[in-house]
Amino acid sequence: MKYLGIELPKPKVAVFGFTGCEGCQLQLANNEQNLKDLFELVEVVDFRLISSDKLGGYDIAFVEGSITTDSDVEALKAIRAQAKLLVATGACACLGGVNNLRERFPLPDAVAEVYGEHKIESGQVRRVADVVPADIELPGCPISKLEFEWLVRQLVMGVEPQFPRYPVCVECKQRINTCVMDMGILCLGPITRAGCNAVCPRNRAGCWGCRGPSEEANYESLVEILREHGFSEAHIAERVSFFNAFSGNQVLPVLE
Ligand code: SF4
Ligand code: SF4
Ligand code: SF4
Repeated sequence: MKYLGIELPKPKVAVFGFTGCEGCQLQLANNEQNLKDLFELVEVVDFRLISSDKLGGYDIAFVEGSITTDSDVEALKAIRAQAKLLVATGACACLGGVNNLRERFPLPDAVAEVYGEHKIESGQVRRVADVVPADIELPGCPISKLEFEWLVRQLVMGVEPQFPRYPVCVECKQRINTCVMDMGILCLGPITRAGCNAVCPRNRAGCWGCRGPSEEANYESLVEILREHGFSEAHIAERVSFFNAFSGNQVLPVLE
């Protein structure tokens, strides 16, 4: 393929899933109208959701899901050893995501509650970057199809992708939304990285922080504002811990 008369490389791409709902992989596989164009840009050599082929020799690995078992760790290390570029894909891979809720409940009780007699291996929830270096983190729960396609185009053209660093509030105001906080709905837009076009506030739901922290987020100020709006410590703590996006921040209330 050529762009402005210059022959572009066609990298080999693999997509892998660890612990997650596969919603991020589905975002890619379901994108029928754009899949053909996308396959002009890259060669997909391993992607279980669309083909049983496992050709190997990939340049770029998209890794969905958090890492929860010893076998996950070994598999991820093998992917890292082969991939020239590893993209942690989605909130589970970048942050631990909703899987981190598991850390709140005592094991093995929670496992027994869900799986009964059926034994499963379930260890500590880790982000991809806790195990191997991730070159790029593609945020969101699920990831956005448009952002994925933009990222692939950037990589093929050799451009370093620049994700928004400002908070969701900026996009929310650009869309002239009414602030959901004024409707009594808790929103983490002020501390969450933009790029989703403020889809939740646009639909009268608060932001849950699925894209991770924005740059220089003012946590102290947000907590003050949330308290002024009458949200309880427990409500704030539950929201900020949901995706494990803001863990380690001393200012935010911690869920007991
Ligand atoms: S980030 Fe969300 S959509 Fe993607 S695998 Fe995790 S839970 Fe599923
Ligand atoms: S709804 Fe949320 S994202 Fe939008 S302006 Fe209010 S706090 Fe910010
Ligand atoms: S508004 Fe918040 S929770 Fe909703 S998609 Fe955007 S970052 Fe995620």
